[in-house]
Amino acid sequence: MKLLKQKVINEGIVLAKGVLKVDSFLNHQMDPFLMREIGREFKALFAEEKITKVLTIESSGIAPGIMTALELEVPLIFARKQKSLTLTEDIYVEKVYSFTKRETNEITVSKKFIAPGERVLIVDDFLANGEAAFGLARIVEQAGAAVAGIGIVIEKSFQPGRDLLLKAGYRVESLVRIASLEDERVVFVGEV
Ligand code: 5GP
Repeated sequence: MKLLKQKVINEGIVLAKGVLKVDSFLNHQMDPFLMREIGREFKALFAEEKITKVLTIESSGIAPGIMTALELEVPLIFARKQKSLTLTEDIYVEKVYSFTKRETNEITVSKKFIAPGERVLIVDDFLANGEAAFGLARIVEQAGAAVAGIGIVIEKSFQPGRDLLLKAGYRVESLVRIASLEDERVVFVGEV
């Protein structure tokens, strides 16, 4: 996706240990025009998948998620992150290790929002090791629903998430794919 790639080139900041900071348009300040284009792009990619819900994780997945849900004309659910839980009866809970925060969170979704037989599109801002996407997929499957696809805004292709998700049988579509962040430089897949 050309517009997104340009944003990453112009505004992305490469931090140590393979982390890309994009807080001027995705992770803190958010660019609504870019989010609208992201929603349209995911709609085009997943239009044939008969999606009934979009599922993401708070907080940075919410903006691309809601624009995708708007384009697909379905609701968005965002999984909540919490450290420990008291009441677990009416919620699905999965453990997810956070790559950037280096801690494990429990993510939760209320059971009433995913029904058996639904076709759920998972959307997230980044794909690294696949922890967040797998956690969301396990919630969908706990509900007896199907993962219709996984839409990622920025994929770090030098980390194993994509391959692990493909091996598990999921369809993964990433709007930009980064091959390397070495020497503080962003190199996209397909560029040398
Ligand atoms: P994964 O669960 O695939 O290991 O990592 C994806 C999650 O970690 C995303 O939800 C995102 O919040 C965060 N993340 C992973 N890598 C990066 C990165 O390079 N930059 C930013 N801003 N977030 C990242």
